[in-house]
This record gives sequence, structure tokens and C-alpha cells, in this order.
Amino acid sequence: MARRKKIYEGKAKTLYEGPEPGTIVQYFKDDATAFNAEKKATIEGKGVLNNLLSEYFFTGLNNMGVPTHFMRRLNMREQLVRACEIIPLEVVVRNYAAGSISKRLGIEEGTQLPRPIIEYYYKDDKLGDPIVSEEHIAAFGWAGQQDMDDIVSLALRVNDFLSGVMFGVGIRLIDFKIEIGRVWDGDFARLIVADEISPDSMRLWDVETNRKLDKDVFRRDLGSLTDAYSEVARRLGVMPKASVVSSKPTLIN
Ligand code: UDP
Repeated sequence: MARRKKIYEGKAKTLYEGPEPGTIVQYFKDDATAFNAEKKATIEGKGVLNNLLSEYFFTGLNNMGVPTHFMRRLNMREQLVRACEIIPLEVVVRNYAAGSISKRLGIEEGTQLPRPIIEYYYKDDKLGDPIVSEEHIAAFGWAGQQDMDDIVSLALRVNDFLSGVMFGVGIRLIDFKIEIGRVWDGDFARLIVADEISPDSMRLWDVETNRKLDKDVFRRDLGSLTDAYSEVARRLGVMPKASVVSSKPTLIN
């Protein structure tokens, strides 16, 4: 079988050249990292769950007219996406305080914010993805003013969609990170939501119990990450057959 050309290997995904020009295959690995890759582990089944969950969220966004890179899922670990130029920013939207904003501003985790707050982090692992302001983004030319307006609008639409979907299954969307890509239609650039949307890049708390159902389970050693992600997938109705996620025997209730 012909080997595909690897374009990029990241911490949780590998990108391969797609079957058509302008397409990419995203392969979801089982690797988990935290604290700028200081903490690492392989978590069996995480890639399958994130592939399915990301498909679910991107399909919903596509259906409501939010432009994304997602084309279709190919198999349990891979999806076909549209190639784009990634803007070198992590766009974080926060509804409740947690993680770095709690530390930076001394706000207790779980405090509802007065309105959704959007933050930008410069994507650079060597620098540990530092927070940046719109001044830095404009001065260094990472995105123009029209891009910034479009990014805010996309981020808030994604936030409303994800918050609503999650609330419907008893989960509070605390915060999330998205990445934005640029595609060209002739001379005109358009921005689309890219990368992945999964519990690796969101904070999700059970509405009743505040149980954490996201990567904080791994970051803070709170139990089984696959159990947490499986719970999200089960509630959303995208849970794969147990045998695909894990080869270990599972108890069926
Ligand atoms: N996040 C992410 N990738 C990163 C940094 C943050 O997906 O490189 C997500 C994180 O999972 C959380 C949100 O962005 O849902 C806000 O993260 P925060 O700034 O609180 O940083 P953390 O405490 O995770 O270091």
C-alpha cells in the first residue's frame, strides 16, 4: 500500500496529505500532554473518542452555517478536512472562570463571568503559548482588523452552539479553545473554524455535581480520562461500540 505523506505531527494529532489537492487527513492519536508537554501519557481510546466528538461538533456547526474545515469522518481515527492557513493564535472563550484566568486574576474556579470573555494566545510551544492582546496581533500582522471582527463573531457563535448542546445533556461549558484558518476563494480570504473541538480543548463540568469531564481529569489526576470522555460521548449519543475504544473487557450494565 502506498504510504501517505505526513505533513505535520502534533501532540495529539498527525496530519497527512489528503486524497484531493486542498484536503488533509487528520489522524487522532491516543497521546495526551499537559503543562506544555511536561506531563505525557498514552490513553487508550482517546483518539477514537476525540475523532467522534470533534465530528459531532463540527457537523453541528456546519449545519448551522458556521464555516469550518470539517468535510467528513473517514474511519474511527481519521477525518478529512479542508486545508487552510492556520492563524497562529489560540482563541479561548470563557463563560466561567477556571485554569489560567483564575490564577492570573484571582477569581475562584466556577465563578460565572459577567459575559463571555475572549482571549488570544500566541501559538508557540517554545514560548509556552503566551497570552497576547489585539495590539500584539495587529502590530505583528498575525491577523488584520477584519479578521479580528470575524474571529470574534465565529468564537461567539461556536460558544453559543457548544454551550447549548452541552447544557442539553447536563454539562456546563466552562471554557474552550478553537483555532481559526484562512482559505482563499480566488483573491478573497475567508476564515473558518479549524483544528479540533473535543474535551481536550474544553472544560466541561457536570451541571449537578461539577464532576470534570475534560482534560483537567488528566492534568489534575482526577481519575480515568477515557471514562470522562466516554461519558460526554454517551450523553451526546456518539458513543462508539466499547470494543473500538478499548480492547479491555468492559462491564455492561
Ligand atoms: N487550551 C487548549 N490548548 C492549550 C491551552 C488551553 O486547548 O494549549 C484550552 C483548555 O483546555 C481550556 C481553555 O483552553 O479549555 C483555557 O485554558 P487555560 O488558559 O485556562 O489554560 P490551562 O489552565 O489549561 O493551562
